[in-house]
Amino acid sequence: MNTSYSRIIKNAFEEVKALPDAGELATYIPELANVDPSKLGVHMTCIDGNHFGIGHDLHKFSIQSIAKVLSLTLAYKIVGEPLWERVDVEPSGTKFDSLLLLESYRGIPRNPFINSGAIVICDILMTHLKDTKVEFLEFVRELSDLPELNYSDKIADSEKRTGYRNVALCNFIKSFGNITNEPEEVLDFYFDMCSLEMTCQEVSRTFGFLANEGCKISDGTKIITKNKCKRINALMLTCGFYDESGEFAFRVGLPGKSGVGGGIVALYPKNYAMVVWSPKLNKHGNSYKGMELLEKVTTHSEMSIF
Ligand code: GLN
Repeated sequence: MNTSYSRIIKNAFEEVKALPDAGELATYIPELANVDPSKLGVHMTCIDGNHFGIGHDLHKFSIQSIAKVLSLTLAYKIVGEPLWERVDVEPSGTKFDSLLLLESYRGIPRNPFINSGAIVICDILMTHLKDTKVEFLEFVRELSDLPELNYSDKIADSEKRTGYRNVALCNFIKSFGNITNEPEEVLDFYFDMCSLEMTCQEVSRTFGFLANEGCKISDGTKIITKNKCKRINALMLTCGFYDESGEFAFRVGLPGKSGVGGGIVALYPKNYAMVVWSPKLNKHGNSYKGMELLEKVTTHSEMSIF
């Protein structure tokens, strides 16, 4: 690990820790209301294998929408380019759970990272895999080198009981013919996928392949082609933060993805994958302190993709 990065992260961590508390927990998923809002962790994994973390970077948190990047990766790997006939690659400019644009675009979600797009990706995986839940979990276990990783029933059940908007999204898309499996089963997998719990260290290791031209950092295994890696990174940059994607690119200057559990993963291609976790969210559903911290790191290091 470049020592200047560890110093920059440490300083950014202290500065952000001292910021006044702002934002709200994602209480629409009842189980997430029980998370300690004062948690703050950060971990960077570099493509040379060195890594550095600080704060609560070894505490597990609910990765939520961060998992959408992994389901997209698996679906893209299986289906290839025809994938984009089912889901578009444009920023939506709307909240993550919005129904708004589905009517105008006749059931084709704007991108794979808003809930509607991620639900279509789940449907595609269900069509191509025999046991989707098991095979997706195996894929993430391989990426993360965590053979014991499991879905969290507690979080998944909590969301299954209250996920009315996602139920509406899935049924609405089905009415246009862009969901082929039973909505109930597609949603069941979607909620399980979002329920994965990992630490900042584990998520940064898991996402290393996207910073490393599609190859796992730990053993060099090729997960996806360079070209697919480029495209997933491009989608993270343009769509990873919903209607705040422009703001994230403007302030941080890296591809990234947030989740309502308060985690954010950001990638500096050919350099590192970095994960921040702070549970309180801004009004766009992105971690308030997480964004602040990442902005400080790229500003102080003067290193971003731009
Ligand atoms: N499981 C959450 C939902 O479907 C994921 C949203 C998010 O993390 N932005 O609402």
